[in-house]
Amino acid sequence: EGVLYSQVRQPCRVMLLLNPYSGKGQALALFNTHIQRMLTEAGILYTLVITERQNHARELVREADLSQWDALVIMSGDGLLFEVVNGLMEREDWETAIQTPLGILPGGSGNALAASVHHYAGYQPLLSEELLLSCGFLLCKGLVSQMDLVSINTSSNQRLFSFLSLAWGFVADVDIESEKYRYVGAARFTVGTLVRLACLRVYQGRLAYLPAEEAVHPAEDTPPLPPSAFCASLLCQPSKASSNQNTFHNSCNSNNAIKARRGEAPAGAPRGPRDSLLVPLEQPVPGDWTVVEEEDFVLVLAMYQSHLSEDMMAAPDSTLQDGLIHLYYIKAGISRTALLRLFLAMEKGTHMACDCPHIVYVKVRALRLEPLSPKGVITVDGELLDYGPVQAQVHPGLARLVCV
Ligand code: ADP
Ligand code: MG
Repeated sequence: EGVLYSQVRQPCRVMLLLNPYSGKGQALALFNTHIQRMLTEAGILYTLVITERQNHARELVREADLSQWDALVIMSGDGLLFEVVNGLMEREDWETAIQTPLGILPGGSGNALAASVHHYAGYQPLLSEELLLSCGFLLCKGLVSQMDLVSINTSSNQRLFSFLSLAWGFVADVDIESEKYRYVGAARFTVGTLVRLACLRVYQGRLAYLPAEEAVHPAEDTPPLPPSAFCASLLCQPSKASSNQNTFHNSCNSNNAIKARRGEAPAGAPRGPRDSLLVPLEQPVPGDWTVVEEEDFVLVLAMYQSHLSEDMMAAPDSTLQDGLIHLYYIKAGISRTALLRLFLAMEKGTHMACDCPHIVYVKVRALRLEPLSPKGVITVDGELLDYGPVQAQVHPGLARLVCV
């Protein structure tokens, strides 16, 4: 499908947040050499904001006048987008704020969402700078789709919104331990995996989930909207798009419909939609949940996009807005060789074809994890979470992302 850049009716304005320390510390140089001209030629006016510290982007988007921007674009790894998503959800007007189109340009070492977006566009896998170029083109094309978010709740009353993954055990350990190999870029996960394999650990805990097919909550199942242009100046086929109700500036009507179907959070509760599938962590899980018998795990990994990193397609069935959490867990007792085989197969997403009796895959809408091992790491979108009991539920299509 070709794209015609019509006469610019109104310039497209984008806030571009860049973390100069992401990846090998070359995000700014990569922006200058690979992206800057592309945006200019596509008629996208951007304001480059270079983050000065952790949570800078989160604070900025929490206070920003969002009517000034057609999209918020992140050039970094997944960590900076995590800040932006949560900054938007912390606003009083979260419901409209989170509908601001988001874009991702891989400049970090953990570029899982960028790799997922590239994969959803139907392209063959690419790494590092080639992936960046591909994501740059997708951004200039300017099509926006709804993206699922997952609400994460801890026993310390933390509530966070996640777009990628919740991990405990092996994967979470690799994520955090490999930060020190940042200088090798995306290969840090491969190095980290090999190091962890050498000192394989078992983690005790309880896992429960609501299987996807059991959930009968039609109110949560907003039918996916077709992709639309995030800015009128980036219209693909103007004649078609002008009659399309879903261009960025026209999207209020459909937003209101979504709002009405989603329901309000009770006053005083943390911001965001109500977690209708969850009961308080102190209570046992509802009767329609499945409680996993095993309590010894090598890893628990909940994915909602296809890629865990640039070269690990952990959830090949996942799409941007399927309303599903793809839950994988690996039971204790797996050999190092078998585990290595699974990780190698993940590059092509064929790990479930390995016929490994220790790995389990289920599609769920909500889950609860209660670690029993006194020490450990839980990550959300690759960022550290308070260690302890945690539960999560998917909110279909809550955010919007530049993605074909
Ligand atoms: P990478 O994929 O290379 O890890 P991320 O985007 O995940 O890149 O960023 C890594 C961490 O750095 C995140 O926790 C993010 O919040 C934080 N961060 C963002 N901007 C800055 C900054 N200017 N200085 C230090 N840390 C930052
Ligand atoms: Mg990161």
